[in-house]
Amino acid sequence: MEVNRICNFNAGPAALPEPVLQELQENVLNFQNCCMSILEISHRSNDFDNVINDAVARTKRLLGIGDNYHVLFLQGGASLQFAMIPMNFLAEGRTADYINTGTWSTKAIKEAQIQKKNFNVAASSEDRNFAYIPKEFSFNPDATFVHITSNNTIKGTQWDQFPDTGDVPLIADMSSDFMCRPIDMSKFGMIYVGAQKNIGPAGVCMVIVRDDMLKLIPDGLPTMLDYRTHVEKNSMYNTPPCFAIYTVQLVLKWLEETVGGLGEMEKINRKKAELLYAAFDESDFYKGTADLDSRSMMNVTFRLPSEELEKKFIDQAAQNGLGGLKGHRSVGGCRASIYNATTVENVEKLISFMKEFENRNK
Ligand SMILES: *Cc1c(COP(=O)(O)O)cnc(C)c1O
Repeated sequence: MEVNRICNFNAGPAALPEPVLQELQENVLNFQNCCMSILEISHRSNDFDNVINDAVARTKRLLGIGDNYHVLFLQGGASLQFAMIPMNFLAEGRTADYINTGTWSTKAIKEAQIQKKNFNVAASSEDRNFAYIPKEFSFNPDATFVHITSNNTIKGTQWDQFPDTGDVPLIADMSSDFMCRPIDMSKFGMIYVGAQKNIGPAGVCMVIVRDDMLKLIPDGLPTMLDYRTHVEKNSMYNTPPCFAIYTVQLVLKWLEETVGGLGEMEKINRKKAELLYAAFDESDFYKGTADLDSRSMMNVTFRLPSEELEKKFIDQAAQNGLGGLKGHRSVGGCRASIYNATTVENVEKLISFMKEFENRNK
């Protein structure tokens, strides 16, 4: 059956690789010849064990990490992690540094505040509406961790080089750029990822936590909110979101076997971002909102000369099969999210529409 699909530039939930959707479709009726749907099998079955263990193994291979890291699949989104991080790692007498680079960092900070934890904001780009990634920090050498948001989905900025925090581990919210490029994992005590941007569907949050971090956790936390529970039970203390985890497994398989790993993924992502930003830089009709040295490879935010033209642009783009270009409701303007699953071809289609629209409306 021929399926009519748009070029999807949604920010999240977002585009998934087409071969993954096709494989899902087949397994919705009969999962790997077990005569049941993937939606119907028990999370205590061998079939599901194979899914989750394969997803863990692929994550470790793709990131180049060993058994000193635990890969978890949790619920509650990245937003629950904002609360669990201070709860688990900031027991009495500890302190942390947070860097504030946008809406999501601000929310992470708020959860530490609510729990009356000790922390400092070591740098912030709020003074210019989060249009850049700070370059100057004052880190506390006694901090237990430094928290960053690696990619700012709403403001369209991304850390190119991670800050040097000495021996203090980084904790990163990588919801919107996880596995867009290789990273040096040795700097990270933990990363966490709401899957629905760059690695899967909504409903699962990946947490990758280093073994030594678990020693910081105080006793007495509610069972579901203690990372050790999920480490000990291989993310199956309670019923996990099986279908979402299965989808993540297929995306990881696609990254490894079809794309050829994170180095190859980065080349494709850089090419897409360079093409799209070059289109702004050649025009004075479209204006990028992020500073040049802080531009995101994943979320490209831009403005047109007026709000009226922005609305017309978004509407006409949709009529031409280009969807999801509206900026976040808190900032307005336009945003093209070009995550891993977005093809170079789709970015080229967007650029040619932008040129046509400019010529018609200049
Ligand atoms: C979308 C997003 C979140 C929120 O994720 P939920 O899974 O909805 O809680 C957090 N951080 C970043 C960077 C995001 O892009």
